[in-house]
Amino acid sequence: MRRPFIAGNWKMNSTRAEGIALVEGIAKGLAADCSVEVAVCPPALYLDAIVAAAGDSPIGVGAQNIYFEASGAFTGEISAAMLKDIGCQYVILGHSERRHVFGESSSLINKKVHAALAAGLVPIVCVGELLEERETGKTADVVAEQFYGSLAGVSAEQMESIVLAYEPVWAIGTGKVATPEQAEAVHADLRKVIEARYNSAVAEKVRIQYGGSVKPDNAAELLSQPNIDGALVGGAALKADSFLGIIAGA
Ligand code: PEP
Repeated sequence: MRRPFIAGNWKMNSTRAEGIALVEGIAKGLAADCSVEVAVCPPALYLDAIVAAAGDSPIGVGAQNIYFEASGAFTGEISAAMLKDIGCQYVILGHSERRHVFGESSSLINKKVHAALAAGLVPIVCVGELLEERETGKTADVVAEQFYGSLAGVSAEQMESIVLAYEPVWAIGTGKVATPEQAEAVHADLRKVIEARYNSAVAEKVRIQYGGSVKPDNAAELLSQPNIDGALVGGAALKADSFLGIIAGA
């Protein structure tokens, strides 16, 4: 059984005080016997404060990006070891905004995946097609290509600890959610790609989140699909009530 995993990507939003209040609100609203893995990914500047605010709650904390080098003359960058040092557990890599706004290639993301693994962080690796790619029947190829490129050189054992997030770019922040059938089809294909690259045991273990306009009112149906193991949530992760509503649907 794959444990459901709901992660919130706050992107470049919130103040320090709002972030602390948000994580405290989520912690307060989580059921004591919550079986869902929960994480928040605030802006890098607030990670330390959010780790402290999450305290002993079951909420894990992740970053939204890293640089792949361990240390050195890389002005403005943050290493995986620095995140680990302050108590982070996860890092989102290859988010569509990193790929399409900042021009990150799968080979750069691959270096970051290896750096994250070496530091003991769990990478949440995002893949997903543009609207034009979906409309021209290229979804499966784009997603498989991003998978192979971003995860090159990753061992079977490492793969089992990695979380994938299928995020169709046309559904991110647009309010246009993929139907449960559309999302399930890509998740099932992706699991077959993992099986082909590794084996069925690894494919059965890897969790694949869906991301793209997940809200409390569509979460349960998406998350009930056999190959959807959680959600990576943007906008709806910025309010405790809506994030908790999504967790309740898992
Ligand atoms: C995201 O940023 O990963 C995301 C899925 O955003 P939203 O939920 O706002 O579509």
